[in-house]
Amino acid sequence: MRKQYRYCYLILHLFLATAVCRAQTTQTSPTAELLEQLIRINTSNPPGNEVQVDRFLAAKLKPLGFETEIIPTPEAGKAHFLARLKGNGSKKPILLAAHADVVGVERSQWSVDPFAGIEKDGYVYGRGALDNKGSLAVFTEALIELAKNKVPLDRDIILLSEADEESGKYNTEWLAEHYFDKIDCAASLNEGGWIMENPRGAVQYVSISTADKLSVWLTLTSHGTSTHSSMPVPNDAIFTLAQALAKLSNYGTRLQFTPGSRQFLLTLSETSPEPMSKTYSDLVQNSDPAQVVAADKTVSKNPLLHAILHNTIAPVFLNAGFRRNVIPGTAQAMINMRLIPGSKIDDVIREIQTVVDNPRVDVKLSDGAGLSSASSMISGDEKLRAHIRALSEIQQSPTDTALYKALASQAEAEFHAPVTPYLFQAGTDAFAWRKRGIPVYGIYPYPVSSSDIQRMHGNDERISVRSLDQGTVMIYKVLIQVAAQ
Ligand SMILES: [Zn+2]
Repeated sequence: MRKQYRYCYLILHLFLATAVCRAQTTQTSPTAELLEQLIRINTSNPPGNEVQVDRFLAAKLKPLGFETEIIPTPEAGKAHFLARLKGNGSKKPILLAAHADVVGVERSQWSVDPFAGIEKDGYVYGRGALDNKGSLAVFTEALIELAKNKVPLDRDIILLSEADEESGKYNTEWLAEHYFDKIDCAASLNEGGWIMENPRGAVQYVSISTADKLSVWLTLTSHGTSTHSSMPVPNDAIFTLAQALAKLSNYGTRLQFTPGSRQFLLTLSETSPEPMSKTYSDLVQNSDPAQVVAADKTVSKNPLLHAILHNTIAPVFLNAGFRRNVIPGTAQAMINMRLIPGSKIDDVIREIQTVVDNPRVDVKLSDGAGLSSASSMISGDEKLRAHIRALSEIQQSPTDTALYKALASQAEAEFHAPVTPYLFQAGTDAFAWRKRGIPVYGIYPYPVSSSDIQRMHGNDERISVRSLDQGTVMIYKVLIQVAAQ
């Protein structure tokens, strides 16, 4: 064992002993405390106001020797934050990214104040607890420990607190277009996969996302005769649109695997009790198509699993009518589709047209901004189409990099559970790096139950203090493995 490594090893054990001690007593966890402080800064987007988080983190990290920088965007109050812990530069940096903005709340549905940062029954409650201020707190606390312990690094580690992940246009793609040199790295961690607990509270598996689904929007416009509502006509635009939506509601998109989702299903098969173990296995490797269809039907009852195996269709906006005694000449709906990587947008549009099967219903690509005249002007735009094509061609991040290996080995050691690559069911801002060929690995770095996941973007969002501590230890060890001299 090299001297420096031995040094790091000792430090690591001191740190772990403290974390274990925290887990066994009521001593406050620094990660939980940091998360509570972050939750108290309301960054509901819009408007976001992420710069308040940036200032808070800068004040915390600068005295510890981090190079910090707040990068303003053209929108007041909206900024990205970078903190760099310097290494000797012999290897390219590792980046830890988490978004500082959160989605808004339905306040009346919460049992606690969503912006009070409350700790209750072993959980930190608040908007962003899981998505994604929890990650921000874990990454920051692991880096603080590294800085305090003065661990010698052979590469820089960059912490990025992002703006506009949940909505808005000054997201990481904007940052990458203007300041790529500041976020260039060998590989990055971002949100994505899960350290998933089974109903008994033990970690069942750890999934690390290596690709994200792609989000696209289509506008359906039905055309009919506009006339007096006392004399209905057979080609009523609203009925026509309703029939089109009913057909989409009953339509099942086909089963599609990526290398990541295939391996993920095999891991589920290995770690699940019967009969689901066989069902997962049938889905991936049964040669009888009827058995595969039956397995898909069973597995797809779980909306998350359905989403990673299929292109999904969800109506998100409806717009029709302008007078109570007029049958309108048109009616519109917008559907949001989440596509498996590799899906071709023109094929997808044709597929929807075929299902709708009505020449009086147009199906057009939309930018998703809403059913306004502005968005319909952009519909079908070639630039948008080219953008979507480029995103759909992004390759899955490889699993043979130092960062993936470090995360996989430390997760396995920490949670004694199998680790698998994964296709994330939604989109993240990882595409800013992935499209530039930089691997991004997605993980929410704390064990979660399915109940915790359901609260994400919902009510009473929470994360357990124990999970935050375990995640901090895991990320600390990952950073030691990947960046310590
Ligand atoms: Zn998120």
